[in-house]
Amino acid sequence: MTPVEALERIVYLLDRSRTGGFKTRAWLRALRVVRDTDPAELEARAAAGTLDELPGIGDATGRAIAEALRGEVPGYLTKLEEERIAAVPPEAAAVRAALRGDCHSHSVWSDGGWTVEAMALAARDLGHEYLAMTDHSPRLTIAHGLDRDRLLAQLDEIAALNDQLAPFRILTGMEVDILEDGGLDLDDDLLARLDVVVASVHSKLRMDAENMTARMVLAVSSPHVDILGHCTGRLVGKRPQSTFDADYVFAACAKYDTAVEINSRPERLDPPQDLLEVALSHGCKFAIDTDAHATGQLEWQVNGCEKAAEVGVPFDRIVNTLPADDLLAWTASH
Ligand SMILES: [Zn+2]
Ligand SMILES: [Zn+2]
Repeated sequence: MTPVEALERIVYLLDRSRTGGFKTRAWLRALRVVRDTDPAELEARAAAGTLDELPGIGDATGRAIAEALRGEVPGYLTKLEEERIAAVPPEAAAVRAALRGDCHSHSVWSDGGWTVEAMALAARDLGHEYLAMTDHSPRLTIAHGLDRDRLLAQLDEIAALNDQLAPFRILTGMEVDILEDGGLDLDDDLLARLDVVVASVHSKLRMDAENMTARMVLAVSSPHVDILGHCTGRLVGKRPQSTFDADYVFAACAKYDTAVEINSRPERLDPPQDLLEVALSHGCKFAIDTDAHATGQLEWQVNGCEKAAEVGVPFDRIVNTLPADDLLAWTASH
């Protein structure tokens, strides 16, 4: 294992363990330094004990680099590998085993940290047959949402990658903002062209229930929308859920065959279980998605599986248990 490989794996595992933020950034910075430094210089500095004189290399990162150079697996990496997030209940493991892909993810094109290719390879390594790349739509400027031209450029990149990675498939898509009036933040011709469209509320989350209900119902009734993303917008312990008439919204999802997302991000876990049961009772379909913004976060899907297992969502109502062709036939059919 080279120092670059060791540091890449450490960053992946830090993303998986949701340490996030400052710590991951420090390791990413070290990774960049190692990539840009002549391997001979690294060797010399490791021998002389001066790795930490390189800008961006500290105590812990320097130790891991030196260990990798000696042909050892860095101790910190081993510790992270062994860290189990939580024991997965067998019912949730069974749901996870039935999944063939992930319908909501981000890349460096919007606010993700990794390229489309890196995300696709990580999804493939997890046993997935496909990954939908659903970067943000133009209105979400804070997340560097894709305008028409950038989306078209991304579609070209995905087409080229699909030639390389077959039979694995990157599905084209977008997480499109639901505008205040229930409209969608992307032109119709592009919405029609994408494989998977996730529609989410990211603005005016505190709108009164009556207007929020109308807004969401209008969005999920669009023939272009396949999945309603993180429907309540809550951030666990930080932001309360939006208020809307769940019976209306989920009845509309069932009527217009729009799947309700079970968002697996630990800070979202959206919808909460009581609303998940309401959606289940209306006959909705579901998509268990990671909303991953980094490769390691693709492993979070098991969180959503646990939520689905808890309320007993039948496998045949989870759209990402479908093979890619069947999934695409479904997204094209409504
Ligand atoms: Zn979102
Ligand atoms: Zn997202």
